[in-house]
Amino acid sequence: MLITDYLLLNYKRCNRRTFLETYGDPQHKDPEKDFLLKLKRENKIHFRNVITARSLDYQQPSSSHRDWQLNALQTSELMQQGVNCIAMGTLSITFSQWQLALGDEIFLNKIDQTHHDLLSEIVFAATPSLLIKHPGKSRFGDWEYFPASIKLGRKAKPEYKLIAAFHAQILGIIQEKTPERSQLILREHNDCSINLDHWLMKMQDTVAECFAMLANYQEPEVFISRQRCSLCNWYGHCHKVAKSVKHLSLIPGVTPKRYEYLQAIGVDSVESLISISEANLGETLGYDVARQLKQQILSIESDRALVRSSFDLVNTQPIPSAAIELYFDIEAEPERQTDYLLGVLLVDRSTNIEQFYAFLAESPEDEGKIWQEFLDFVALYPDAPIFHYSEYEADTIKRLARLYGTPKEQKTAVLSRLVDLHHWVTKSVILPVESYSLKALANWIGFYWRETQASGDQSVCWYDQWLHTQDRALLELILNYNEDDCRATRFLKDWLLDFLEYQRQELIVTK
Ligand code: SF4
Repeated sequence: MLITDYLLLNYKRCNRRTFLETYGDPQHKDPEKDFLLKLKRENKIHFRNVITARSLDYQQPSSSHRDWQLNALQTSELMQQGVNCIAMGTLSITFSQWQLALGDEIFLNKIDQTHHDLLSEIVFAATPSLLIKHPGKSRFGDWEYFPASIKLGRKAKPEYKLIAAFHAQILGIIQEKTPERSQLILREHNDCSINLDHWLMKMQDTVAECFAMLANYQEPEVFISRQRCSLCNWYGHCHKVAKSVKHLSLIPGVTPKRYEYLQAIGVDSVESLISISEANLGETLGYDVARQLKQQILSIESDRALVRSSFDLVNTQPIPSAAIELYFDIEAEPERQTDYLLGVLLVDRSTNIEQFYAFLAESPEDEGKIWQEFLDFVALYPDAPIFHYSEYEADTIKRLARLYGTPKEQKTAVLSRLVDLHHWVTKSVILPVESYSLKALANWIGFYWRETQASGDQSVCWYDQWLHTQDRALLELILNYNEDDCRATRFLKDWLLDFLEYQRQELIVTK
């Protein structure tokens, strides 16, 4: 059994993913998303940029990582020769080498006795971005190496640290000297040395746990988490599994932590969530969360929208409305930190005219220009509320105003006109959906995007492709997607206004 850094990285993010990568049917995997391919390309570019910026004099094994055994052999030869810096190498050891250095207790404690013989089949393989030589004592001579991982991320995430410790461990066993440090080289070339004392112990535990899960053939339970699953290639499969068992993770508000609490009180299915009393649930999750979850499950089971019990239907001012309204949505490229499209749908209710305006930066350098055009445009309709869905639009207005020196009064005037419909939805209604994303809500009330596969991530990929190919068809796709986002926001606003007004009238009549 091959235990690699890639396997461990996945394990740290989602143990089920490691299980599926090892035993799952590859046909159940989703096609590789464009966004992931883009990330892979950017990783390679970042790697080259780091090498160039540091003028690293490196050598690399002639074989690729795909032929990892040969690559490991060549890496070992380069270390033996005392090459200053080795890029894209592979470090590999057998379980008996690990056992000799660290013992096997941690593994034996975690697996069934019937699987002990599997231990001898373990091979560890690690692929640090760089191995950097410095003076010291190792089995190679008066030098030793430490590993460095080049990552595109801005933060030293725990999973990066764990993998950096894994690299240090395997390298330490090979060169018979644990490196003094293991380094992360992050975006903007920030260096971070990890605390090996802490992370080596954690890593050994994780390696043994991961092995035990695979050796014992324990398929981890599915848990759909939007943040974690959205970029995973097993999402389609896992979502199907979750749907088929009506898994609680499909209910908004059931986080991994809350799921643990629910299981501890015997609530592990939709039926048990329905039957438990709100008071009992409240003792474990808090009364507000319990009320919200009970309403959520009622909404899902009856496929009805409900007014949130905490919402004061009678005394809350209705959502702002005006003769002219603007619906605003942004497309942004997080890697370049560029907001490349500021889209606005103008709705003139007095004339029944709708017009979409797109302020599009055909190159990232045009961001300041489209920001000014947007400001000029919204200034033409000073009384029009600006509807949007999420905090991102307000944050972006602040960022762009800061970046391009917009006068404070102008920025404040625009901000004061924003109406966040996400805020309105989440404070006033419960809907029978799996998430409160604009897409999920708009789909439930009957709005559909022209391009069914379109998403924010896909728009970023189209923009990236546009920058490389100058194919205007890609810009059309981006514009259509953004326009549909604005129209969906408008659709949602109209629906929410009508729904709350209808419920308010009903309440007044019944009183
Ligand atoms: S879709 Fe989610 S639960 Fe399934 S393997 Fe991927 S990250 Fe894990």
